[in-house]
Amino acid sequence: DITDCDDLSGLDEEELEKRKSLGYEEETPVSDNRCDNCQLYLPPTEKRKCGGCQLFKGPVKPGAYCTYWAPRVE
Ligand code: SF4
Repeated sequence: DITDCDDLSGLDEEELEKRKSLGYEEETPVSDNRCDNCQLYLPPTEKRKCGGCQLFKGPVKPGAYCTYWAPRVE
C-alpha cells in the first residue's frame, strides 16, 4: 500500500544519495515520462508490493520520474 511505498527507512545514506543524484521525483514533471513506462522500472510483484528501479534500491512509485528515464522497448 501507499504507506509502505513511502518508507525509505530501510535504505542507507548511499542509496538515498543515489536516488537523489539521479534526480528522482515522486511526481513526474513530464507527464508522458513516468516510471511505469520506463524501461528500467520494476513493476510490483506478489512478493514486492511497491515498484522498483534497476538503478537504485528501495520503493519507486508508478508516477515518479528521474533524469534517466528511457522509453520501454516492447
Ligand atoms: Fe523511474 Fe528513473 Fe528508474 Fe526509470 S530510471 S524507473 S524514471 S527512477
